[in-house]
Amino acid sequence: MIDTEGTAPAGDPGHVPFRLLIVGPPGAGKGTQAARLAEALRIPAISTGDIFRANVGAKTELGVLAQSYMDRGEYVPDSVTNDMVRSRLAEADAQGGFLLDGYPRTLDQVHALDDMLSATGDALDAVLMLDVDFDAVIGRLVERGRELGRSDDTEETIRRRIEVYAEQTAPLVALFEERGLLRRVDGMASIDEVTAALLAALEQR
Ligand code: AMP
Repeated sequence: MIDTEGTAPAGDPGHVPFRLLIVGPPGAGKGTQAARLAEALRIPAISTGDIFRANVGAKTELGVLAQSYMDRGEYVPDSVTNDMVRSRLAEADAQGGFLLDGYPRTLDQVHALDDMLSATGDALDAVLMLDVDFDAVIGRLVERGRELGRSDDTEETIRRRIEVYAEQTAPLVALFEERGLLRRVDGMASIDEVTAALLAALEQR
């Protein structure tokens, strides 16, 4: 399996070992904000979508399998995704905290992550939720597909991805809320404003 690079080493004094998730529908700006937060907090941003795309690009066995789901806007099977995240979180740079972008997306993945963290005596610190307007994100995704040529940013796939998100992932928000981890931020503001609001939300622990 090939991997995407984490952003920064932990280990300096004063480093806070944040273990975070960023959630929100496709096109909410999770990837953009995850990169900014990771830099500010000196933790790696780990995007399951990016790891899958890197594997698709390198035509690994994992990539060939993942692509058949991604191109249809469906989720890659939980067992495959969970194994991939388990090995990524075991890497050295994730020991001092991490920001997961795009995982967990199903209840099975939430349980798998709970098990991974409890095995090392760790727990999540917060779940950051980007609140956005669904019509606006469809427009953003169509534009991104045109600009970046992402093969799953076609209008038909986008609709399916949003449906799958609404069916399987949106219900998980209530679970994080019950656990007292959820921090909601308005994802329709400017990129800088959203970053500032996310960092402020983390201070309210
Ligand atoms: P993303 O870049 O997060 O929008 O992910 C792009 C695609 O990768 C998704 O539409 C799924 O096909 C796949 N994917 C990413 N993360 C996951 C996950 N946690 N579970 C299952 N499939 C995923």
